[in-house]
Amino acid sequence: MLIQYGKQSIDEADVKAVTDVLQSDFLTQGPVVPIFENLFAEYCSVDRAVAVSSATAALHLACLALGLKQGDWVWTTPNTFVASANCALYCGANIDFVDIDIHDFNICVQALEEKLNSAEKTGTIPKILIVVHFAGQSCDMQAIKKLSRKYGFKIIEDASHAVGGKYNGQPVGSCKYSDITVFSFHPVKIITTGEGGVATTNDQLLADSMSRLRSHGITRDVTEMTNIPDGPWYYEQVELGMNYRMTDISAALGISQMSKVDGFVARRREIASQYSEAFKDIPISEQRAFHLSESSFHLYVIRLNLVKFSLPKNEIFTILMNKGIATNVHYIPVHTQPFFKKMGFKPEYCPNSIKYYSEAITLPVFPDLECAEQKQVIEAMKGLKRSNI
Ligand SMILES: *Cc1c(COP(=O)(O)O)cnc(C)c1O
Repeated sequence: MLIQYGKQSIDEADVKAVTDVLQSDFLTQGPVVPIFENLFAEYCSVDRAVAVSSATAALHLACLALGLKQGDWVWTTPNTFVASANCALYCGANIDFVDIDIHDFNICVQALEEKLNSAEKTGTIPKILIVVHFAGQSCDMQAIKKLSRKYGFKIIEDASHAVGGKYNGQPVGSCKYSDITVFSFHPVKIITTGEGGVATTNDQLLADSMSRLRSHGITRDVTEMTNIPDGPWYYEQVELGMNYRMTDISAALGISQMSKVDGFVARRREIASQYSEAFKDIPISEQRAFHLSESSFHLYVIRLNLVKFSLPKNEIFTILMNKGIATNVHYIPVHTQPFFKKMGFKPEYCPNSIKYYSEAITLPVFPDLECAEQKQVIEAMKGLKRSNI
């Protein structure tokens, strides 16, 4: 059987949690969603969590709640899933990219500072910076927060990879150094709700705004209304929202998965450290660790030294595939996608992301990966042809 690069872990308790909800009165957002939200907020040491239908939805709501409009700028990293950039475009804003650090694969703080410096002179400071904690390793949020104070921009953390990660002793999602943090519960991520996402924040107004916007911009809270209710059925639409609700079915799965999250992350860390140990003598480099960050290892990514492997990357990919190992590549730099290319971005705009992309490969890591399967991956990697130079 093919070993995938990532996969959900579902047990009997998860199945029961879902079937219990199916037999209850609510299927869509009902009493289970706020239970999940409170549990998730507590896990992240944050005041509020707003559960939604996906991380993409959460990113869109976060941008809207922060007042992103046409003419504004959003900056993000090219080494991410396209959703981190698309949310800006949903709001009619402009998108721009800051190159990555070639060693830790996250947004390069120095490049960010230089770009901010130039933007200040031309009056094009972004309204929002979206940082991505690549593979589950937090960016240096203290340094980024310092820049946001100096230059005046908001921060969204796209922590889709980083449920269970830590920064400076705090859970990712605590929003100590950001306005809003967003997580994904897509099946390949750390925990799953089928499809789903959440936005965390310590700002009550932002949380209330995202809660309204996920359900059409409708409120049932009298203090938010213009008119006096003419009956108990009364609600008001006070702004333009979407239907981004999470279902109770998903939330029940989320609650069940949360009871296992620390075990999932511990197992991921164990697998990553075993790879690390096994690959000491082959010409690869890992994501450089950062002393303040504890990664949740959503992904285990390595850069191949392609001069020393006398094989091109796609051949390595094929050799592994033929041995039953489905590797992947995270990510195709977003600014090179045809849609973004049409906006005028050239590949060399973010050269580190291009070099990284030419060398990076994602190996299997997920809690149910068996020891024998990991051994198979390690042996296959060690067996790749190498030159003597
Ligand atoms: C998975 C992912 C998303 C999108 O998550 P969905 O829940 O599928 O919408 C956004 N950003 C990053 C970095 C991701 O990995």
